[in-house]
Parts: sequence; structure tokens; C-alpha cells
Amino acid sequence: MNDTQTATLEADEANAPLTALDRCDSCGAQAYVRATMERGTLLFCAHHAAKHREAMQPLALVWHDETAKLTEA
Ligand SMILES: [Zn+2]
Repeated sequence: MNDTQTATLEADEANAPLTALDRCDSCGAQAYVRATMERGTLLFCAHHAAKHREAMQPLALVWHDETAKLTEA
């Protein structure tokens, strides 16, 4: 039985840090949020994450939010 191991690996991937190469699916700006859905992942910049969060977050398996980086000094 390796169900637990598989789940752990998926969780690690869903929570992996975003990089400058990750781009918003809506506008192409740098992504700060990754929504891991049942059928794949969506990337959002801070602007589009805020716009779509209310609708998308309840549907996401993992809502990985790094927008706090933007407000760090
Ligand atoms: Zn965007």
C-alpha cells in the first residue's frame, strides 16, 4: 500500500515554491498563486488571484498563495 506516499508526493508538488518562470494563465505576469485542481494546475498573478479567488479557491485541492512575498519589505 503506497497511497500515503503518493498523496505526500502530490502535496509536495502542489506546495512547491513558484519561480519567475511561472506565469499567470490570464495575463502572463509572474505568478504568485498556484491553484491545484483535479484536472491540473492554474497559475495566477496577484491581480488575477484576487479576482478569481472567491470562485476558484473552494474548487482547488491546494491553493498555494505566495502573494505575501509582494508585501515583504
Ligand atoms: Zn494575471
